[in-house]
Amino acid sequence: MRKKLVAANWKLNGSPEFVDSMMFELAKVKCDTVDCAVFPPFVFIPQVKSALPAGWQLGAQNVSLYEQGAFTGEVAADMVVACGGSLALVGHSERRSLFAETDAEVAKKVAVALKSGMDVVLCVGESLAERNSDETMAVIQRQLEAGFSLVSPEDVSRVCVAYEPVWAIGTGVTATPEQAQEVHHNIRALLRVLQPGAESAVRIIYGGSVKAANVSDLFVMPDIDGALVGGASLDAKEFSAICEAAR
Ligand code: PGA
Repeated sequence: MRKKLVAANWKLNGSPEFVDSMMFELAKVKCDTVDCAVFPPFVFIPQVKSALPAGWQLGAQNVSLYEQGAFTGEVAADMVVACGGSLALVGHSERRSLFAETDAEVAKKVAVALKSGMDVVLCVGESLAERNSDETMAVIQRQLEAGFSLVSPEDVSRVCVAYEPVWAIGTGVTATPEQAQEVHHNIRALLRVLQPGAESAVRIIYGGSVKAANVSDLFVMPDIDGALVGGASLDAKEFSAICEAAR
């Protein structure tokens, strides 16, 4: 059985006061039968680390393509690890669309993060226009093949796939459990082609307007192994309830 993963993606939100109160609340959540993780903005990683409850994982929302050198404004995967991070979010649709991140760059970031010792949450997902023109699985196949292209066979299970339909992110429109399950099932078939055995070893989590009120229906689906939560993760009670639903 794959253990569920529930991860908070704070995006560009938070303050030192927010981190303090959030970590106080999250300490009440039991991470035993579920893996829980938080992705704060880079600058808060040390503060989150110092208050991280037992069993929680800490990650970065992005990592640099580069490992070191004259790359002003970048943060290297090794630096995240040195500050206590163990997980990297790579290929989020906001990075792809707002910061023009390409499949090739996503592939390199996955490789750099794994090399640094972090596990990876690789985001894939189609836009509304792509879904409406029946391109959902073609887009996801392209993103998956690129994302795994530099991953060695022994590292495949260190990558978790996050299926995040772009039309469901931050919109309040969640994919129905059946829509999500269908794509997760198809992603497993693609993973089997990439590497036999990966279909059962790799976790596939869902993201896109996940809330306490809709998460239980998603979690009963056989191929949904957890959730990547944006907006609802900024509310400690709401996010705690989502973690609880995964136990
Ligand atoms: P949302 O964001 O929960 O606010 O839709 C999810 C994400 O972007 O990871």
